[in-house]
Amino acid sequence: MAEIANYFDDWKAGHYNCANCGWVGLGSALEAGELFADLTEFGCPACRATLLLVQHPTLEEWRANWGKLNDAQRRHVEAAERFHSQFQQEKLRGPEDLPDISNPTFFLNWDFSDDGVSSRTVIRLGDQVVFSEPAVFEGYERFAEVATILKAKYGSQLTDVIPTESSHLYLYGDKLSAPKLVKDTRHQLFHDDLTHA
Ligand SMILES: [Zn+2]
Repeated sequence: MAEIANYFDDWKAGHYNCANCGWVGLGSALEAGELFADLTEFGCPACRATLLLVQHPTLEEWRANWGKLNDAQRRHVEAAERFHSQFQQEKLRGPEDLPDISNPTFFLNWDFSDDGVSSRTVIRLGDQVVFSEPAVFEGYERFAEVATILKAKYGSQLTDVIPTESSHLYLYGDKLSAPKLVKDTRHQLFHDDLTHA
């Protein structure tokens, strides 16, 4: 079983034993493996068995350990904080944020715009902007939240939320399962009725 450490724990100075091949050594000798959204895997340098999962810091944890950060890390944290606060201000919160649409039925596009300053998710009805908010990288979970709110607002009027080609990079990121997760969300919200028709 892999141990779990917080990023700011002193895991590099800790001792690790590999149950798979018998290697014994310091955390600093472990090899960084797969990177996930919330954690990074570290493996045995001899056989690559996963020995440690290091959780990525939250913004609060970065701030609490500010003195340990280099300038690049501080700029990164400050940019993440700016995004976080802008997102909290501008995100779609509920059906009440959305305009009424009179079309009996319609589909919406999940689109992406980038003016060089900020990247935004744009919900469109044809050319018309229905809503826009800061785009979340690898935002497939956000897609499910927004599509659920859109469904709550428009009910059976809304037949689908279709990601445009230009939204794919941000929506899916490096997450290989993301296209299927988005497809499953659309199927659950919009297409289950059709299978009974
Ligand atoms: Zn090993």
